[in-house]
Amino acid sequence: MSRSGFARAWDVWDVVVIGGGITGAGILLEAARRGLKVLLVEQRDFAWGTSSRSSKLVHGGLRYLKQGQFGLTRESVHEREHLLRQAAGLVEPQSFAFGDYAGRKPGKRTFLAGLAIYDRMAGQRARHYYGREEFAALAPNIATDGLRGGMVYTDAKTDDARLVLRVLQEARQYGAVALNYMAVESLLCDGEETKGVLLRDGLSGARHEVRARMVINATGAWADRLRAATQAQPSASTSTSSAGAAALRRLRPLRGSHLVLPAWRLPLAQAVSLMHPADGRPVFAYPWEGVTLVGTTDVDHHHDLAQEAAISRAECDYLMAALHAQFPQLNLCDADIIATYAGVRPVIDSGKADPSKETRDHALWLENGLLTVTGGKLTTFRVIALDVLKLAAARFPELEGRLEPQPVFAPSSPLRYAPDLPPGQAQRLQGRYGVQAQNLVDAAQAGELTIVPGTETIWAQLRWAARCEDVCKLEDLLLRRTRIGIQLHGGGIDILPRIRAICQAELGWDDPRWEQEQAAYLALWQAHYSVPKQ
Ligand SMILES: Cc1cc2nc3c(=O)[nH]c(=O)nc-3n(C[C@H](O)[C@H](O)[C@H](O)COP(=O)(O)OP(=O)(O)OC[C@H]3O[C@@H](n4cnc5c(N)ncnc54)[C@H](O)[C@@H]3O)c2cc1C
Repeated sequence: MSRSGFARAWDVWDVVVIGGGITGAGILLEAARRGLKVLLVEQRDFAWGTSSRSSKLVHGGLRYLKQGQFGLTRESVHEREHLLRQAAGLVEPQSFAFGDYAGRKPGKRTFLAGLAIYDRMAGQRARHYYGREEFAALAPNIATDGLRGGMVYTDAKTDDARLVLRVLQEARQYGAVALNYMAVESLLCDGEETKGVLLRDGLSGARHEVRARMVINATGAWADRLRAATQAQPSASTSTSSAGAAALRRLRPLRGSHLVLPAWRLPLAQAVSLMHPADGRPVFAYPWEGVTLVGTTDVDHHHDLAQEAAISRAECDYLMAALHAQFPQLNLCDADIIATYAGVRPVIDSGKADPSKETRDHALWLENGLLTVTGGKLTTFRVIALDVLKLAAARFPELEGRLEPQPVFAPSSPLRYAPDLPPGQAQRLQGRYGVQAQNLVDAAQAGELTIVPGTETIWAQLRWAARCEDVCKLEDLLLRRTRIGIQLHGGGIDILPRIRAICQAELGWDDPRWEQEQAAYLALWQAHYSVPKQ
């Protein structure tokens, strides 16, 4: 459906979902597969918000056990197991190693007790304790002073932006419409009831009024702004003001940042989890898509949410200090860092002094007809979506008896024999593109079924994204459709000529447009994805 045509598709939509992160995408899918007419709008690109900047783990969250959040952990472990089965190739198992050092907490007994609960929730036994020599072989390069042995356990990882895109793709198969660069400028109200939204097309500047039986605010860390609009003086249209949002604030934006290092510089047989020497917070280093990710931090984010978040120098030093302590002989330094990225957690504010002690559970509020959902985790997007539909069900009698969980993705037929694909790619593409995986492979031109060096992406993914995946800006292609922007030095500057040769015609951009996009992308990368100066 065209960007202008959607407004005439229905006089009244059943649901308008605001926000194209994993929460909005999950709601879109669960509503569409139950027959509702649903529209999702995202002010920037799909997954532009927190959902492309997470730690990319599909996990129960061992540290939530420590905080007594058993319900959240159980729910997350169950969802992890579903995703491992139903989204293979996109959600993959990942083993973690945690060193047991003399005098350091948590000790062997406490950690193993936590892992036993974790395993029990998943109905498996994936934990092992290894003695010093064996553990040092399993986790090469780690500090051996005081090492007594270590625990190994299993969780899972994903590509967060691709998870959002796969969920959106699946929702579209049920007739849902999802538009990027389409911002909600204000809410349309009838008395005190929210009845629709006023949209502004970020590409053309056009405005559209859209009516809906229910408007759902799934804008993550931005959620307070729209909530404030419903509490303003009732009028035909109430705009999203930051002053009103401050008065009604329920969220505590917490920034989390990561470093990306080349796999050869920080080689890991498996993920390593450790307690930061300065404050005892958990930090992970893990192999991901051909690079090593290190994260994360957890600090109050006081910057304007209209600007992309970026790692601070202090956060960079904090993560490097964790690496120096855990991998002392590698002598890692700033020059080893390929890229950085930062995201803002939508965390419910309970006023805790330590940000890391705030709950990571999701919350729902129905205020003047606007249903807000925020908080939560990538891992639990299906649970969150079903909770939203349960709360919305009073307005949708057609949902009665239809709110049982369904498999995350409908099964799709496996790729035909594709001998040219590098090993492991068939499943990887199947997980990421579902029923479209075969079309992607068929669209590849000579040499495009090979891997972009330094990543696990194949060149054909770039062509496919440029042709079929709503790429509006070069940053969409390099930071979210593929992750080349955080996997290669300088955001992939050295391979931009080849990317241009593959993608420019597919995107329909002339030379001036390409050059303008390239300049904008490289400036964005410098400002938000590079290493902050000392
Ligand atoms: C550093 C970090 C690490 C994390 N690690 C993990 C992890 O390993 N595993 C895990 O399960 N979870 C993790 N999380 C949590 C998880 O990433 C978030 O809970 C999740 O991504 C939130 O998704 P969301 O859709 O609610 O928000 P977002 O992804 O932020 O989406 C909200 C969207 O709403 C859009 N929007 C805002 N206002 C408007 C408007 N007016 N009109 C239209 N659109 C609008 C925004 O542009 C944004 O794209 C992590 C979070 C952080 C920050």
